[in-house]
This record gives sequence, structure tokens and C-alpha cells, in this order.
Amino acid sequence: MPTLDLARFPRLPLLTLPTPIEPLDGLTAHLGDALNGVRIFVKRDDLAGIGLGGNKLRKLEYLLGAAREAGADTAITVGAIQSNHARLTAAATARAGLTCELFLTRSVPRQDPDYTGNGNRLLDDLFGATVHELPGDADSIAAAEARADALRAEGRVVYTFPSGGSSPTGCLGYVNCAAEILTQADTLGVTFAQIVTANGSAGTHAGLVAGLASIGRDPRLAKSFAVLAEEARARGEVLEKANATLALTGAERRVTPEDINLDGRHRGPGYGIPTAGMLEAVRLMARTEGKLLDPVYSGKAFAGLLHDVRAGLYPAGSSVLFLMTGGTPGIFAYKEALAG
Ligand SMILES: *Cc1c(COP(=O)(O)O)cnc(C)c1O
Repeated sequence: MPTLDLARFPRLPLLTLPTPIEPLDGLTAHLGDALNGVRIFVKRDDLAGIGLGGNKLRKLEYLLGAAREAGADTAITVGAIQSNHARLTAAATARAGLTCELFLTRSVPRQDPDYTGNGNRLLDDLFGATVHELPGDADSIAAAEARADALRAEGRVVYTFPSGGSSPTGCLGYVNCAAEILTQADTLGVTFAQIVTANGSAGTHAGLVAGLASIGRDPRLAKSFAVLAEEARARGEVLEKANATLALTGAERRVTPEDINLDGRHRGPGYGIPTAGMLEAVRLMARTEGKLLDPVYSGKAFAGLLHDVRAGLYPAGSSVLFLMTGGTPGIFAYKEALAG
């Protein structure tokens, strides 16, 4: 299989690759005919490396590679209070020996201690990051840039990562992942009809799209369920980031809006707000597989996939791959929704 050579991009290894692909035998036995003969596999990007793992580590391998090459001593990033990206940036910078500052916004309307102090937020402190909390409507990027300028004036070398780590450099982690999946599928003797992921800052989907396009595969093989932006905006973000990532790699290929396979119908009332489908999906995966989806991203995306499979979107005998993207600490911030 022709793959893009990303070797010229510096990379700091943070996880053990390839991550395993496994069938969901327990869930399949439990749901029986409701799956319409479709086989669901999961790719375990939730199992990984450091800091309780998750999809942000693939991006951070390239982001921290670039930061180290630039001689950075400090990394700054932004996110919501329960950001998985912020938590994994804190863990990865600790490992890489960089100082970390996080600008976290109260964008989810919750003040209870599970949300404000447990889960990811607890781990940010444990990994030694300096945390600045901002109101929900604050411009965290501007605050982070101002802080970066102040630190630079003191002689520090500062590298800022965008929300979710979804710059073209961060997206390289999922360019690689697309090729990794297709190689594993060959080894398993399986053809995936769809690769499904949650979509927050669009970088995971964009990286997969860029990866698939660059090796001559249909970019629509990757599908995301948007959990943050509404559908049209999310589609635009994936498109823009996929093309920026292709440009970064030097590929000539570009993708168009028709290449972006995205569904915004399982987000519910908003980012970080539970839905009935998410609760069903998280419980089902836990009780039939002993595996953990998260309440903000992968729980809603898996709810979307289950909906599609039950509705007969995929023919009997086909196989679909769900990307388990981590977010495990978020479970502890959603005790009230998930209890019982
Ligand atoms: C960030 C995140 C996603 C979405 O990835 P993006 O690249 O931001 O779209 C999915 N699942 C989990 C658990 C995440 O933390």
C-alpha cells in the first residue's frame, strides 16, 4: 500500500502503535438480530501510553516533536474545564520535560464539584500543569497568546497548541492512523465499510480524510459524529483542516465538501450535555464488553453508529470500525448522569 512518508516530521513517541483492533463479541451477542448482521470492531486508541490515553496522544506526538525541534521549554494550550486534550498535553509535556500552562473555559454550564474538580481537571493538577480558568465566553486563545508573549519577553521559548491539538501538524497523527487501519484490516482479512469517530475539534476526522485521500482511498470511508459544532460548521472545519494537512504533507490532492462524511444529529442539546443515546451507549459498552466510552465524545458517536446499524444503513455481513478515542476520566466528571 502506498503511504505518505511522514518521516521528515519530528515525532515524540508517546504510545505503542499500532493500537489493537478487536471485534465486539459481547455486545454482538447481546444485541443479536438488532445489528442486522453487521460486525462492529473497535480500534483501541483509548488504551495507550501515558496519562490514561486517548486520541490526543497521536496528535501530541507530532506537536511535541515540533515543539522540541523549535527548542521550546513551555507548552500552552486551551480547552474546556474537562478537556481530554488539556489533560494529555499536561501528561505529555511532563514526560517531555516541558513546562505546561492550560487556559480552560467554563463552556459547559456546570458548577458541581464532579465537573469542576474531578476527572480531567484533577489530573491536570496531578501532572503539574499551571491552570488558568476562564469564563465560558472568554477568548481563551487570546488569553493563551497574551501569556505566551509575556513568557517570551522573559526569555522563555513557548509553543502554543490549538484547541484539541487540531493544527495540521497535530492532524498528522491521524494521517498515519488511516494507513495503520488499512494495513491491520488486510492482516485481519476484513474490509471495513466505514471507519467511525467522534468529532470535536475536527482534527481526528480531518487527519483520517487526508490520510485516506493521500493513499488513493475514498475519504468518505471515514465518518464522524459531531459533538461540539453544529453539522455545517463541523463539516467546514474538517474540510479546511484536511486540506491544510494535505498541503503540509506536500500532497497535491485536495478534498471537497462531498468528501466529508459527517452527521450532526447525535450531539443533543450541546457540547458536554448528556443525551439518552449516550447513556445507553456508555452503559451497553460497559456491561457487554467491560470497555469504556466517554460521556462527551465517544458515547455520543457510538450512539450514532448504533442508530445507523439498527436502521439498516450497512448491509448484512459488512464490518464497521469504531475508533475508541478515550476520554475515560470524563466518566468521573459525569457521576450524576451515569450513576445507577
Ligand atoms: C478530542 C476527542 C475527540 C474528538 O477528536 P477531535 O480531533 O477533537 O475531533 C473524540 N473523543 C475523545 C475522547 C476526545 O477527547
